[in-house]
Amino acid sequence: MDFDLSPETEEMRDMVVRFAQRELTTPAEFDTEDFRRRWRSAGQQGLVGSCVPRAYGGSGLDAVEAAATMEALGFGCEDTGFAFSVAAHLFAAVMPVVEFGTEEQKKRWLPALGSGELIAAHCITEPEAGSDTLRLRTRATRDGAGYRLDGHKCFTTNSPVADLFIVQAATDPGGGFFGLTTFVVEAGTPGLSVGQRYDKVGLRGSPMADVYFDGCVVPDTQVLGAEGSGAAIFSCSMKWERTCLFAAYLGAMKRVLDSTVAHVREREQFGTPIGAFQAVSHRVVDMMARHEAARLLLYKAARGLADGTDDEIGPALAKIAVSEAAVQLGLDAVQLRGALGVLDGEAECLLRDALPARIFSGTNEIQKNNVARALGLNPPRRSAKRR
Ligand SMILES: Cc1cc2nc3c(=O)[nH]c(=O)nc-3n(C[C@H](O)[C@H](O)[C@H](O)COP(=O)(O)OP(=O)(O)OC[C@H]3O[C@@H](n4cnc5c(N)ncnc54)[C@H](O)[C@@H]3O)c2cc1C
Repeated sequence: MDFDLSPETEEMRDMVVRFAQRELTTPAEFDTEDFRRRWRSAGQQGLVGSCVPRAYGGSGLDAVEAAATMEALGFGCEDTGFAFSVAAHLFAAVMPVVEFGTEEQKKRWLPALGSGELIAAHCITEPEAGSDTLRLRTRATRDGAGYRLDGHKCFTTNSPVADLFIVQAATDPGGGFFGLTTFVVEAGTPGLSVGQRYDKVGLRGSPMADVYFDGCVVPDTQVLGAEGSGAAIFSCSMKWERTCLFAAYLGAMKRVLDSTVAHVREREQFGTPIGAFQAVSHRVVDMMARHEAARLLLYKAARGLADGTDDEIGPALAKIAVSEAAVQLGLDAVQLRGALGVLDGEAECLLRDALPARIFSGTNEIQKNNVARALGLNPPRRSAKRR
């Protein structure tokens, strides 16, 4: 496989790094106004709509180019939470509109979603339906020329600031894969409300809350795809997320790896730089090997997505590899800094930001189940009661 990026993509990557280092500095505390300012600025750079087609005002990047952009954002932007929010918007909420929206829906929402004017959130997880995504309790029932949504979503990234919600609800409870339908719901729609912003251990720059639907009526024109195609839409958005979103972690890991190498070169104990001790240098090499291996898996998955030759295995392996490497790299970076590592700083920050990566986008255990199933090693997915 050819892993070289085109000169244009390399140039774009450098530009994103410079932009992020200059404009996306980490605020001391989460602040909605500042978040919106940075979001609009990232929109002007084409980052929040990077793979929206040019016809709808986006940059028209393919999955490899989008991954390169996200990697650059993760490297340049020390606030990995902000990069995560951008990626969650783009891959879990905007790409479903790109891939399944009608012409009218695309014209209505994509230009503003790509320019940074609108922020999107993706709602599937519920208190009783985390990994078991087909058993949603949020119901969508027919109501005149639309549907009435009732239910409770949780852990919804971007929801405290979102203008648009991509919502999965059960139109046929117990209908398995064909029981879910996807809706686009605009903020301000009666019956939609958002809870208090959570305090999280990591990704603190990414706002998250619960979302409630209480008799929220959505017209037919805001159904994405056909009724019953929600699970297929969700699977498709997760392929994007498990591949391109995780590229932001590759960038963050590289940033911390570089500063770790600098630290072990400079820090002296016993009259010599600590990097000269084999226990230290081998740990650095292990960090590098994990980062590099995860990176190759991710770009392989992105190439499959760009070429249309993707399967379920590539994105799952990339997701597992990047998230596990990020956690281990965070631990190693803390250890190699000694006591400095447990002070507020980029090593402990990477570790905290990496922990959720093993959970969101489908936990790593669920990814292993998916790969095992693709290998014929565990029971098939629950089938629908009909169709
Ligand atoms: C930072 C962050 C951002 C998120 N953003 C969003 C968002 O924007 N929108 C959204 O809808 N959701 C979001 N989520 C929620 C996320 O998708 C869920 O947390 C995830 O799917 C796991 O569900 P759960 O937390 O209920 O864990 P559970 O499903 O309760 O799992 C608990 C543990 O049991 C294991 N487990 C469960 N079932 C199996 C099984 N069959 N085999 C083996 N192990 C199993 C899991 O792997 C895990 O270790 C986010 C989560 C985080 C942490």
